[in-house]
Amino acid sequence: MATNSWAQRALAGAKPAVFWSDRADAPAPAPTLRRPDTADLTVVGGGFTGLWAAIQALEDQPGIRVVVLESDRCGFGASSRNGGFCDSSLTHGLENGLAHWPTATETLLRLGRANLDAIEATIERHQISADFRRTHEIGVATEAWHLDELAESLATHRAAGNDMELLDAQGTRSRVNSPTYLGGLVRRNDTSLVDPARLCWGLRTAAESLGARIYERSPATGISRDGTALNVVTPEGSVRSERVVMATNAYPNPVSRQRRYVIPVYDHVLMSEPLNAQQLTAIGWEGREGVGDVSNQFHYYRMTEDDRILWGGYDATYHYGNGLDPKHDQSEETHSALAEHFFATFPQLEGVGFSHRWGGPIATTTKFSATWGTSHQGRLAWVAGYTGLGVGASRFGARVALDLVQGRTTELTELEMVRKKPLPFPPEPVRWAGVQLTRRAIQRADRRDGKRGPWLSLLDRFGVGFDS
Ligand SMILES: Cc1cc2nc3c(=O)[nH]c(=O)nc-3n(C[C@H](O)[C@H](O)[C@H](O)COP(=O)(O)OP(=O)(O)OC[C@H]3O[C@@H](n4cnc5c(N)ncnc54)[C@H](O)[C@@H]3O)c2cc1C
Repeated sequence: MATNSWAQRALAGAKPAVFWSDRADAPAPAPTLRRPDTADLTVVGGGFTGLWAAIQALEDQPGIRVVVLESDRCGFGASSRNGGFCDSSLTHGLENGLAHWPTATETLLRLGRANLDAIEATIERHQISADFRRTHEIGVATEAWHLDELAESLATHRAAGNDMELLDAQGTRSRVNSPTYLGGLVRRNDTSLVDPARLCWGLRTAAESLGARIYERSPATGISRDGTALNVVTPEGSVRSERVVMATNAYPNPVSRQRRYVIPVYDHVLMSEPLNAQQLTAIGWEGREGVGDVSNQFHYYRMTEDDRILWGGYDATYHYGNGLDPKHDQSEETHSALAEHFFATFPQLEGVGFSHRWGGPIATTTKFSATWGTSHQGRLAWVAGYTGLGVGASRFGARVALDLVQGRTTELTELEMVRKKPLPFPPEPVRWAGVQLTRRAIQRADRRDGKRGPWLSLLDRFGVGFDS
């Protein structure tokens, strides 16, 4: 049977829902805010950033009053929809960090490693069952030109002190068995995999155990000054507090300035049914590494605790006017392409079905890394824009936002990455046209052995771009 029809058949039974949160052990909802409340710190957004902000604030100053307002359920956004690659990089990868902040590389690497260690320590301290595993990561070459990219990447990573191993085709296939592999590059340090929804749920419990009050289905709809404090308003209540951290990432919030720098981009994912013993033998993958190919339009994939394969990436779609809508979670075109690529990579898995298909908005900036800002005379700080590598970096993002909102000058707030904003995106309709032009140029570059045409070269010169 042709791969194409296998792929379509495999997709037929996939539930249009997020696998990670579609599970019986999802926690009971937190209450909705239905009265005026007061706090020392209000956090808007109950994803990783918001929950890490609450936890770190309470660890800094036990006993302060922290309220988290979440418009849906904690983890409703990207935080429970992602691949669970929890990396030490704060800059959407080493190469991107080097391109934008070359003189701060050593510092950013050190801070990133400390951040990942602190995530692991928190998970242990609060006994969060989130299948957190320090794993290796493999970048795989599936085209001849990828091999040059891997060789270049090997040198860059070694110079940064990373523990790397370059594999030939056979070496790569002995780790994960795909006939498409021509080579691979393994990173053995500072990366991990996690079950993202369980991490979110565990962080929510940890924040509550430290004293945070969490309100779900309580969207912040406005912010106003109230004497020296800020009043965050929800449809049925309000919170008056001295400080506010805005952690809504791709989603709009009452701080309009963020919208100039951060745009929502949809990324899509498939989850397979659990593999049986024979299928597991057919793919090897005993090290359960996180895997990604090195195309510009890359795929990322990994195994789950119950032997499924999560398969995501490839296409990143932007909808006009910073469009966000649950209907964008499902994309026939992207999910079909992903299914076909899955079976092209693992033809020995023909017959395996997908149980879930979903998508979600990542927030990107022109530098593919988080950016921060303050307003209301420094009483409010916001952070957003981790692009596709925010699972780990969100803890750091929250740490910086807390330093900013407390008015503290720290090593983190002095980083150029924090002090200087990326170039803003142009307003519509130029924004939409620019993104489409860039997407097409990226597709063309992949078809032409990675050669970046005039448009991408121009963007590179200005240090800006579009990525997922
Ligand atoms: C499909 C996909 C795959 C990804 N894969 C990876 C990966 O493997 N590794 C990785 O590092 N990163 C990955 N990412 C990115 C990563 O998930 C995000 O960077 C990270 O989760 C951002 O966390 P956050 O808390 O800032 O944002 P979010 O998780 O989006 O949280 C924002 C929260 O704010 C809430 N909210 C919005 N507006 C309001 C309001 N007005 N009032 C109250 N609450 C509000 C939302 O409901 C949401 O819960 C992926 C993202 C997607 C979508």
